[in-house]
Amino acid sequence: MPNKDKKYPENIAGKIYVDESCIACDACVTAAPGNFSMKEEDGHAFVKKQPQNQQEEDQVREAMEACPVEAIGNDGPEN
Ligand code: SF4
Repeated sequence: MPNKDKKYPENIAGKIYVDESCIACDACVTAAPGNFSMKEEDGHAFVKKQPQNQQEEDQVREAMEACPVEAIGNDGPEN
């Protein structure tokens, strides 16, 4: 389970975040390139932009499902 108390400081403020269990597999960046980015020097992904339309919401959901270690959390009201 993603842990919002262990999210990386690089995540932009908002409901979606990447936590410290990320293994830098790149799946989220592939699924939602507009919302996730890789911090290469530290070896983990982070949320660079919160989803702002239905397409981005769908891509972020795909990213969450694709993440092999459940490192992507959704702290939004729908959860
Ligand atoms: Fe990290 Fe998960 Fe993204 Fe892979 S899919 S880079 S493990 S957050």
